[in-house]
Amino acid sequence: MDHSRLRHAGIKATFPRMKILDLFYQHAGLHMSPADIYRSLLSDSSNIGLATVYRVITQLEGAGLLKRTQLDAHTTVYELNDKGHHDHLVCTDCGRILESSDPAMGQLVRKIAKRSGFLLDSYSLVLYGHCGCSKDAAAHPHGEFE
Ligand SMILES: [Zn+2]
Ligand SMILES: [Zn+2]
Repeated sequence: MDHSRLRHAGIKATFPRMKILDLFYQHAGLHMSPADIYRSLLSDSSNIGLATVYRVITQLEGAGLLKRTQLDAHTTVYELNDKGHHDHLVCTDCGRILESSDPAMGQLVRKIAKRSGFLLDSYSLVLYGHCGCSKDAAAHPHGEFE
């Protein structure tokens, strides 16, 4: 476990914080819902409850270590905040989450905001569709719809 990431982010390195942040580094590139995180922690008997998971990920997000994406009304996923803005493509069959980072999209969004006299803070774009997985694909990656 690496305490320095939390220290650099200016928050105390408590066990649940280290444990949960570690999980994200172990699965770099993965998008995880609070339930995904909770389940992963159960399997290594860390004894961290779901309420703690919610509290800690909010703290890690506040410290700038995690990034939150609202996929739909019921699904929020978190990922390491270690890359720039990107959009998400969600497969509604298998729950797979792909990423896309196209500067042209950002430019278009800023143009639209400007045209409406709208002061843009941020934007989130989620594309829903099918990744090409077969219907009987057994694998259910993390970050999927519940
Ligand atoms: Zn799929
Ligand atoms: Zn992402």
